[in-house]
Amino acid sequence: MTRGRTSTHGAPPVVRAADAAWMEHAACRNLDPETFFPIGSGLPAQRQARAAKAVCRPCSVREQCLRWAMRAGHEEGVWGGLDADERREAQRRLRNPADQVPEQVPNR
Ligand code: SF4
Repeated sequence: MTRGRTSTHGAPPVVRAADAAWMEHAACRNLDPETFFPIGSGLPAQRQARAAKAVCRPCSVREQCLRWAMRAGHEEGVWGGLDADERREAQRRLRNPADQVPEQVPNR
């Protein structure tokens, strides 16, 4: 971690101690944290975000990571397979359950 961001791979020791159980299983734990923090919105940043999400997709602690990031209010980077816009949308839906799209449409 080079810019003071917190992540599973660059979290401050106090955070690591509290969440070490799941962080030790992070698929990204040995990767460059910068991979998860694309800068800007251009094609290179979009490619970088896709690469980060590809690491997250099979990660066994994806759910814990996403919950932790949303609780901590992280506004940058890819966490739990979601970028900042996707996390904001998820937060919005959590606050407004009526906006949630049902996973299955009931049979009529
Ligand atoms: S979900 Fe992604 S960011 Fe979170 S621990 Fe797994 S690989 Fe890392």
